[in-house]
Amino acid sequence: MESIEISTRSRAEVVEITSQVQEAVARSEVARGVVFVFSAHTTAGLTVNEHADPDVMADVLSVLEKLAPAQGAYAHMEGNSDAHVKASLVGNSVSLPVEEGRLALGSWQGVFFCEFDGPRRRRALVQVLGAR
Ligand code: ZN
Repeated sequence: MESIEISTRSRAEVVEITSQVQEAVARSEVARGVVFVFSAHTTAGLTVNEHADPDVMADVLSVLEKLAPAQGAYAHMEGNSDAHVKASLVGNSVSLPVEEGRLALGSWQGVFFCEFDGPRRRRALVQVLGAR
C-alpha cells in the first residue's frame, strides 16, 4: 500500500493525481491488474473525469454546490455538512485497470482528488493488485 499526499489550497477544489497513481503502478511492477485508490476522509472524495478541459471539473464543482450549498439547513453541527454530502455524491474510491504496466484510462480521463472542506493536508491510499 502506498499513499499520495495532497495539500489543498481552497475549501472546494479538485487536484489531478493521475501521474502520482501512474508512478505507484510503475513502482509496483504489476503488468496486468487493477489499481484501487481510496480517500481516507469523510469530506473529500475521488472521481475520474475529463482532464483536457478544466471547465468540466469546474462545472462538476458548481453543480455539487447547487445540490449541497455550503449554507443550508443541516443537522450536523460541525459546519461542514455540505462537504460530507458532496464527498458521498462523488464517492471515496476509484478502481482503474492496469494493462502493460500502465493505467488503462481513456484518452480524456484523469483521476481527481476532490476537496470539499479545505484547505487541508490530505491522503489517498493506493493499492495495486495483479500479476507482474
Ligand atoms: Zn463534519
